Order: sequence, then C-alpha cells, then structure tokens
Amino acid sequence: MLRAVTTGHPSARHRARRHTRRRTVRWILALGAAAAIVAAALVVVPLLRPPGPRPLFQLPVACGETWQLGTYPGHDDFDVDLFPTTGEAWGRPVLASSAGTVTVAGINGSLGERTPDNPNGPRGRGGGYWVKIDHGGRWETQYLHLLEPPLVREGQRVAQGEQIGRVGSTGNSGAPHLHYEQRRGWEKVETHFDGQPSGITNDDTEYTVERTSNNCSAGQP
Ligand SMILES: [Zn+2]
Repeated sequence: MLRAVTTGHPSARHRARRHTRRRTVRWILALGAAAAIVAAALVVVPLLRPPGPRPLFQLPVACGETWQLGTYPGHDDFDVDLFPTTGEAWGRPVLASSAGTVTVAGINGSLGERTPDNPNGPRGRGGGYWVKIDHGGRWETQYLHLLEPPLVREGQRVAQGEQIGRVGSTGNSGAPHLHYEQRRGWEKVETHFDGQPSGITNDDTEYTVERTSNNCSAGQP
C-alpha cells in the first residue's frame, strides 16, 4: 500500500480513512467469495443432475439417403463411421442429428493434407475439423473429419437437420467419411437413429449396417 510521506504519526483523519478503506476491501472480498460460490454451483449442480431423456436423434445426413454405418477393431466402442452407399463421400452435407447449441466448432488434433484433389496426402491427427453439439439434458453429438471449417460457430443454436459442415478426411482419416458419436452425460453410448439402436456397441470386430436417413425436418427448431 502506498503511504504518503509524513513528518509524524498519521492524523486521526488518515486513520479513519484507512479504516474505511479496509472495510471496503473486506466487502469486496466477501462479495467475490459469494460470486465464486454461486459460479461453482452453476457449474456443479447441472453435472449432478441425472441425464434427461434421449432426444429423437436422426442420421446426420440428408433425408432419404442410405449410408453404411460401421466400426472396426481399434476404432473405440460405440464410435460410428458413416460412408454413403451411392455417390461421392467428399463434400456431402453433414446435418445436426437433433436441435441444440454448438459447443465446439474447430480443429481437433491436426488437419493433415487429405483433400478431394489429393486424397492420399499426409494424414493428420485426431478429428480434424469437427463439431460438437449440446442437445440439453446432458446429451451431445460429435461430428469429425469435416472437409472444411465448420459452417456453424460456437454458441450458435442449430435446428435438427441444419447443415453444420461437409464430409471430408481431415485429421486421422483414411478415406472421406463422417466419424460420429452420441454421448449421454459425456459418456459414449450406443447410437440411436429415429428411435432405433444402431447395433454398434463395441469395436471387437468389423461390423457394418445400412440405414436410411429420416432427418427430414430441416429448419424446424
Ligand atoms: Zn471413426
């Protein structure tokens, strides 16, 4: 604390002023502590709440399209790779499975250099361009290996069926596809689409199944 240069003892007025200042500091500290407790409660209380009911997730691809859903040893339990059964995978629209708020729209790991013009370029690491959506009730979905920077930004509300990106091969990806996950309470769970479980529960063996997208309500919140 700065103290004025004085010739003798601080005057009574100085003492009174210092006392007031000390009381103010104490008040600020008390208010700060109270604010910290409230902030901590706002973070912790939602974490303690049980997850809400599963949203009616839809395939993250265009209405009416049939895609192959699959996994392979070493992938990770519950993880799903999506490949279209017809046409090019590069650039296909990736849609929000359900309405929610974008919590991540960026780069996971590194991008690498796999593009439509150079499909066998150097691989990146991790998920490449990716998006994470919070659907409320502690449910979230993740979309990895997107071709380009996501078409949405963090904090943005998205509707079910809204386009969030395009299929690519950024990050640790062999060929253009969409890596997709559903999480409940931030734990991976078996993916469900249109109310039906995908059957992809572990990565013990290679497994694929075809499903047709009923993500047909684009634009509805
Ligand atoms: Zn994958």
